[in-house]
Amino acid sequence: MNPTDVPSWDAHNHVQSIEPLATREQWMTEAAAAGVRSMLVNGTCESDWDAVAELARTNPGVIPSFGYHPWRVSLRSANWIDRLRSLLAEFPSAGVGEIGIDGWILEQDPASLARWGGRLGAVVPASMEVQDAVFLEQLALAAELNRPASIHCIQAWGHLLELLQKARLPSRGFLLHSYGGSRELVKPFADLGARFGFSGALGHLRKQRQLAVFRSIPLDRLLIESDAPYQLPPTEWMGPFADSIAAEAAQNHPGTLAIIQHQAAQFLGQDLCAFSAQMERNYINLFGTGVHT
Ligand SMILES: [Zn+2]
Repeated sequence: MNPTDVPSWDAHNHVQSIEPLATREQWMTEAAAAGVRSMLVNGTCESDWDAVAELARTNPGVIPSFGYHPWRVSLRSANWIDRLRSLLAEFPSAGVGEIGIDGWILEQDPASLARWGGRLGAVVPASMEVQDAVFLEQLALAAELNRPASIHCIQAWGHLLELLQKARLPSRGFLLHSYGGSRELVKPFADLGARFGFSGALGHLRKQRQLAVFRSIPLDRLLIESDAPYQLPPTEWMGPFADSIAAEAAQNHPGTLAIIQHQAAQFLGQDLCAFSAQMERNYINLFGTGVHT
């Protein structure tokens, strides 16, 4: 069966960052044609929250999520938490994210971080103490409103587990986006309500060890994600979207989710249609249908 003939649900992306706007609109249409039924579109800081809100207003398949990404916390304004609260009130189906902590960023050369910044400007790392405080404030808000939290973590998995074990968590659970922790941490995270995101980057040879970790994740805790326009899958996973790489400065097309789902099902020895149905249940279970009733 053609992977794009099977419906899919994107648990994590940033389509608001696809540039230019005409490409973003075209790729959203192409992703829908490739079977992507709904997507969780994550803001990263105050300067992209409005674009996420606009996508949610104009696309019934978009569930918005608002939060401060750990790479962006240095940019926050004095009243950032009030803005976050009011967006969550305006969008009752919205999640809180992308939030989290990042140890990797603290070890990078500031000059090399400039290339990660994109149009939002250079990444200025905040200390782990500041990252923790901003993360926990947003997590508390997610718990208070019982919204799904989308959590980013790089090179701080043990620390993240300790923080989550002490924090009040949203009772509906949270996503560990692009799970990069060990096999041993799967159960303690799952016990707290974690879902685990499987992304296209796992197709790269250098990620083989991490890919193997996904064999130990319970199927009802798994979600698939494109992370578009980031985390470009290997060329052989791009399928009908391969042409978009050269044309759009290596941005990942959200339609690659169809291939990611197909590859995940194959890797886990699952029938593609049954796997797709499971991913739908998992997505709705954590994020809802996007329609507030
Ligand atoms: Zn992300």
